[in-house]
Amino acid sequence: MKNNSLTQKQGPKTQTVFIGSGISMSTAIGKARVINSGLGQVPKYHVSDTDVPDELKRFRNAVAKAQKQIARLKAKTSSLTDTTAEELELLLDAHAAMLVSTRMLLGIEKNIAELNLNAEAALEIVVEEIARGFEKVKDAYLAARVQDIKDVGSRILRQLMKTPYQIYSKIPKGSIIVAQELSPADTALMDPGSIAGLITEQGGSDGHTAIMARSLNIPAVLGVTKILSKISDGDTIIVDGDNGRVIVSPDHDTLEEFKRKIEARRRLNRQLTRLRSLPAVTQDGVLVGMQANIELARDVEEAIHAGAEGIGLLRTEFMFLNRSSAPTEEDQYQTLKTIITEMSGRPVTIRTFDLSTDNLPQSKNIRTKKSSNPLLGLRAVRLSLRQQRLFEIQLSAILRASIHGEIRILLPMVSSIHQVREVKKILRRVRSRLQKQDKIATDKVPPLGAMIEVPGAALIADSIIQEVDFLAIGTNDLTMYTLAIDREDEQVSNLFNPLHPAVLQLIQITLQAAHRSKKPVSICGEIAGDPRFAPLLIGLGVRELSMTSQNLPRVKQRIRALKTGPATRRAMAILDQTDEDQVQRLLDDFNDGI
Ligand code: PEP
Ligand code: MG
Repeated sequence: MKNNSLTQKQGPKTQTVFIGSGISMSTAIGKARVINSGLGQVPKYHVSDTDVPDELKRFRNAVAKAQKQIARLKAKTSSLTDTTAEELELLLDAHAAMLVSTRMLLGIEKNIAELNLNAEAALEIVVEEIARGFEKVKDAYLAARVQDIKDVGSRILRQLMKTPYQIYSKIPKGSIIVAQELSPADTALMDPGSIAGLITEQGGSDGHTAIMARSLNIPAVLGVTKILSKISDGDTIIVDGDNGRVIVSPDHDTLEEFKRKIEARRRLNRQLTRLRSLPAVTQDGVLVGMQANIELARDVEEAIHAGAEGIGLLRTEFMFLNRSSAPTEEDQYQTLKTIITEMSGRPVTIRTFDLSTDNLPQSKNIRTKKSSNPLLGLRAVRLSLRQQRLFEIQLSAILRASIHGEIRILLPMVSSIHQVREVKKILRRVRSRLQKQDKIATDKVPPLGAMIEVPGAALIADSIIQEVDFLAIGTNDLTMYTLAIDREDEQVSNLFNPLHPAVLQLIQITLQAAHRSKKPVSICGEIAGDPRFAPLLIGLGVRELSMTSQNLPRVKQRIRALKTGPATRRAMAILDQTDEDQVQRLLDDFNDGI
């Protein structure tokens, strides 16, 4: 992303505008809360022989405080939901275990006593040594442990240097988090009731952190390069998620303008909620199915509130994050049962885990080698077929939960018909085991679908659809793999364009394959939730959309204003284009006329 910053002197204060990727159609005003991932310069000095006992004491005190801190954090998990509490407890237990007579602690004490180093320097050397040792072994399980060691090391360092540890729950209500990077797992732990907005230096608009922020309805701008050095805790900030702008220390007029915008948005949202119970039907009577994409059970309420007719994409991999081991079959079953029951008969499309070797929780039974490029490595259905035990546990939980409502199973990142055939074999095995145990009914088989998000899969959509009951087009990954642009990388996010003629051709090929076979097809990438794309998608023949709940009313409003005839003619004209700028112009021009 461009590092555009525009400074304008306004008396004693300076208003500065930064540009990044706006990832939510919303705006917030709040006070900056800067999250420092590092601790700055670690002090390094020698202690005299006579001072060594005191230095050892200072170190042991810091360890004791870190232990108490973990115990306090553990006590706080009781206020969280069961699954989140359990996930955090596992992680905290692993960290607590490292604070009792481990090689790390003994090594640090040895460095203090024998090399006369201060505790901070002694600690830094040991953590680096252990990390280097682990990194030589190319094993993702050990790589994850390195992060744990670094986290525990930082916790002790914070005590030694008296730097408080950042926990999002302690951040004052209404804060805007400013961080170098936030993982989807960090974002999942945030409470949208207390965090007003998010700004990061790294990350693109279609990555999973962005998707998570959208799903929590937190206004956010990601990929704002070099903002951290220009911002301090407590600065007033406007997060303009609509236009990808961050305004630091806004002047009076700008602040008033944004307050008016926020109020107008609130009024519009109130009006839009009236659309909740109305169908998404075009002016000429064509009905479009409107479903929600969700990540966690807590998103169901919002989906129902927004008027979703079902869940078109449940990203189950979020059940595997923020924990040190994979969830058990019972954990997964309980979460799925809650979601399906709360949807009260509306269909729920459960996507099997889309994990990769860099975020799969490792354990004694599950060990994967680190991929040099996880996005092209063992990811999604490929990983499921390699880790069949883990996959069978998930399928078993899904099939057991299927008795509580209407479900569909969706496979991520399918690239060949063999993968689908292989999954069907495993599904039959799991089903017959559950039937023997009387855990599922014999007559109900959930429909099985494939995501089309790899160009090769789109090109053979005609064959893939013969093997499945429905298709879902994942335009986020389809764009990434077609244009070779990492969706999480802010340096190339300006090139990430789902309107690229090559992406549109692949969408069209997939839609035609589904229409020929008379099987359902939906779009569930981020473009489904952008009202500006609705005329193009409807014009191409899409009749099923799945999106983040917050965008549902606005997309519905646009569909209700459309006529399919003109939308189809415009979509065909767009498909004829070879220049992406011209595609954009033709679409903008059509939208302006609605
Ligand atoms: C997609 O790739 O478009 C999609 C919907 O899946 P995800 O964003 O979870 O990768
Ligand atoms: Mg995808």
